[in-house]
Parts: sequence; C-alpha cells; structure tokens
Amino acid sequence: MLIEYLKQNYMIVPFSEIPKEDTPYLVLRHDVDLSLVAALKMAKTEHKIGIRSSYFILLSSNNYNCFNGESISIIRQICELGHEIGLHYDTRQYKCYAHNDIYGLKLELQVLESIIGRKVHSISSHAPKGPNSFLELSGYVNADNSKSRDIYVHDSRKLWTAVSLSILLSNSKKRPQLLIHPCHWEGKTDPRTKLRRFLVEEPFQSLLWLLYKVRTLFIRILSTHESCEN
Ligand SMILES: [Zn+2]
Repeated sequence: MLIEYLKQNYMIVPFSEIPKEDTPYLVLRHDVDLSLVAALKMAKTEHKIGIRSSYFILLSSNNYNCFNGESISIIRQICELGHEIGLHYDTRQYKCYAHNDIYGLKLELQVLESIIGRKVHSISSHAPKGPNSFLELSGYVNADNSKSRDIYVHDSRKLWTAVSLSILLSNSKKRPQLLIHPCHWEGKTDPRTKLRRFLVEEPFQSLLWLLYKVRTLFIRILSTHESCEN
C-alpha cells in the first residue's frame, strides 16, 4: 500500500502538528467531498498502521448531511482515532446563508467545533483554483497555502500526476503534501470507469480539464523546443 511505503520514508503528520523546526515531514490530507463512510474506512486503515492525518469535512456537501446523527457519530469516530478534523470550506455556498465569506467561515467553524468538542485548527478550500481570501487567516493553517509544502501530490479523479508521484516516491522532497480523497479509493472501481463517469456526468468540467491538459502539453512541447534551440 502507498501509505505504508511512505511511512517507512517520511514522518507523516496532520496539519495541526507540522513541526516548527526544520525537520522533514509529509503532511497527509483528506478532503471529504463525497462520503463520510469512505472517510471512516480510510481513517480506520490508517489507525491500524499507526498513521494520523487530517480529514477536512465539507459542511455544505450535497452528498452527505453533517447534521444527522450517523454523520456526527462518524466525524467523532474519526476524531477519536487520533486524526485531525478540519473544515473543508466552499465560499460559493456562503452567499446562501451568510452576510459575507468570513462570517460564513466562522459560522461553519463553530458548528464543526461543537460537533467534535474541540477547536478546529486547519482549513482547506473545496474550490482551490478560485480566489482564496483565507490563505493567511490568523490562527489557522490553510492546507492550500503553498508555504507549508515543497511539492503537492493529489489524486484528482484517482489519476495521480505521474511526475509528482514519482518525485514523492523518490524521497527527494522535505515537505511534501499528499491529498487523498477517500471517496476515490472506496470499492474496486477502476480508473477508466471513474474517468468515463467524469466525462459523462460532468461534461463541462471534463471539457475544461481537457483544454487544460492540451494547454499544458503545448507549453511542454514549446519549452522543449526552445531548450533544444538554445
Ligand atoms: Zn473538495
């Protein structure tokens, strides 16, 4: 298993325990976008192998309801396993129930803190590509703040970025951040099925993703061409 391999080579920590001194570490992040049940399974697996990480809960999720008893119990179980509970915020939702973004964020922090019975120290954005006014929010670690990492590896759509994953496995970085979405690894759905589902269910996003990949490819080809000329 990937995590077991990484545990042999890195000190794995949640965001709230990032060392202040210049010690190498890997910070392990889980954005709980779709399923608390999948998050709990992952939390139990990590607990068995002696790993603690950060689980970011999305209070405004369309896919689970943080206010029902079962969800509250799951969030508390993840916390009791020794993992950090953070807030996965989506400022697009705040227009529905808050005067402004900071009011919406503080409101959600209060709710999450009352669910887990302790202070929340870390936050992450559900829409990291948009404007993010909370990157340097006093008193909180923002997982999207690039200052806390020297490489960012994520499993977007269960498709690892091959280059960044290989750099991570080579142990050449001192402060990698690894984002794993628990919902991508529940069950035995293979990457091709996931990709097909993405293309069918989210055609607009998949078109953007395709355009982004084509753009990246062209930039790479152009830079290779330029370096050959030099
Ligand atoms: Zn998210």
